[in-house]
Amino acid sequence: MAEQKKWKWADDPNLNKMELTKLEKDGLDVIETIVNTYSKEGYASIEPSDFDRFKWAGIYQQRPKDGHFMMRVRIPGGILTSRQARTLAGIAKDYGRDLVDVTTRQAVQFHWLTVESLADIFSRLSEVGLSSFEACGDCPRTIVGNPLAGIDPHEVLDTRPIIKELEQFFLLNRDFSNLPRKYKMSISANVYNAAHAQINDLAFTPAKKTIGGEEVVGFHVWVGGGLSAKPYLAQQLDVFCRPEEVVKVAAGVTTLFRDFGYRQKRTHARLKFLVADWGAEKFREELVKLTGPLETRGEDLLKGWNAGYFYGLHEQRQKGFYYAGLSVPVGRMDADELSELARLADEYGDGTIGTCNSQNVLIRHIPEEKLEAFRAEPLIATRFKLAPQTFVGYAVSCTGIEYCNLAVVETKERMRSLAEYLDQTVALDTPLRIHMVGCPNSCGQRQIADIGLQGALVKTPNGMVDAFDIYVGGTLEEARFNQKLKARITADELGPFLAQLIAIYKEERQAGEPYWRYVERVGLEAIQRQVDSILQTA
Ligand code: SF4
Repeated sequence: MAEQKKWKWADDPNLNKMELTKLEKDGLDVIETIVNTYSKEGYASIEPSDFDRFKWAGIYQQRPKDGHFMMRVRIPGGILTSRQARTLAGIAKDYGRDLVDVTTRQAVQFHWLTVESLADIFSRLSEVGLSSFEACGDCPRTIVGNPLAGIDPHEVLDTRPIIKELEQFFLLNRDFSNLPRKYKMSISANVYNAAHAQINDLAFTPAKKTIGGEEVVGFHVWVGGGLSAKPYLAQQLDVFCRPEEVVKVAAGVTTLFRDFGYRQKRTHARLKFLVADWGAEKFREELVKLTGPLETRGEDLLKGWNAGYFYGLHEQRQKGFYYAGLSVPVGRMDADELSELARLADEYGDGTIGTCNSQNVLIRHIPEEKLEAFRAEPLIATRFKLAPQTFVGYAVSCTGIEYCNLAVVETKERMRSLAEYLDQTVALDTPLRIHMVGCPNSCGQRQIADIGLQGALVKTPNGMVDAFDIYVGGTLEEARFNQKLKARITADELGPFLAQLIAIYKEERQAGEPYWRYVERVGLEAIQRQVDSILQTA
């Protein structure tokens, strides 16, 4: 075990229990223990206090805590190679009951792993340059990016080298392995905000500035975003960051979080709370004490928000080449499907696959002459479609009660069948993003959905049943979170209820008006009246 650092907050008498666990033994130390001890001696040998530290290895105990684990694998910037994809498929097949989930942070999740399998999985991942380490825990998580980086006609610079540099700097860096809470970074130079900047603890978005008579393309810097029960949108700092300064600025922001972030209550520890208290101006002042002088803000190059969707075949920056945006319903696939994606990436593209924060995938760099054959591939024609139906195509779901210990209700399969029902019931030709989450932690990013569904329980004459609170009008186009309606709808009634609500929108919307904008135009009270009237006639 590495020597434990002497952190300056160690003597704070009000530290929460998790802080004491981390002081006793750093989260990263559990990796060695898993490899050398637990994977050989089995589940019964695991020290109870190490279960929390398993997160630093990217692993959670799976519900119902009977010896199975969930593992999250980092896919930095959402781009992986076909070789990496085959390795992931092999792990799912050998150890994970054939299940692969793409997450809303472009990572990949396995379920059903046993502790005996973990050492082999770590080594298989490492052989292809992947890692699950620090994909969970109070540390810098998967760095989210633009899955089209390098080929994107809508990006102002290729962020792949910067993501690599950031990943190398932060991964397994013991200066940052004990943060007050989880820490999420994103970097994208796509002008349509491909990496959901405003909901990250730290985000970089494209910008330009004339410095010394020369135009420099770089980034604006956002801090303090995050969802969960108390969601906050990130604030932009008065900073222009050159590409070569990204790691320095990220290290500075992360140091401020580590040294000044709150460690008394787990529910009040994310960077967003420090940023809310300090404000953007003080945060900048403290940041430059660590980084040295930084340029002030330049010209923002963000033009809108693509919500992480790229369906269809689209021309790349490279003339004559196309990328294919494919739908993976609620992000779930089996090992053979992932292997098949790897084959398609090799046979038609440049051997890379993009993972999107909308839980979908991309095949990159397909030459024009191969498009027709690509379209006819059975996986594309029948399963991961280029043009999915509206609701299946824009449905997002967290893991839910099937595997998650914090869940109140089932989500994944429910969201999939709800989307299929809506596609059969309401013919809608424009995207309407529905996100379902099983608890307020909001891994499925409920707050930014046109319609957010958050699991709850409701008392009925037949006992407690699964239900959902309904939220409407979320977007990052003109960033705002969706708002709660006064309605808790049982899971059985959810489909017909939403079909009626969406039918009213379909009838009343203006040309091209997305649902979030419709909610803004008619107002929450009008939507509430629609809900009341639907419920009265039910
Ligand atoms: Fe689990 Fe809640 Fe996250 Fe869903 S939102 S995966 S239920 S913690």
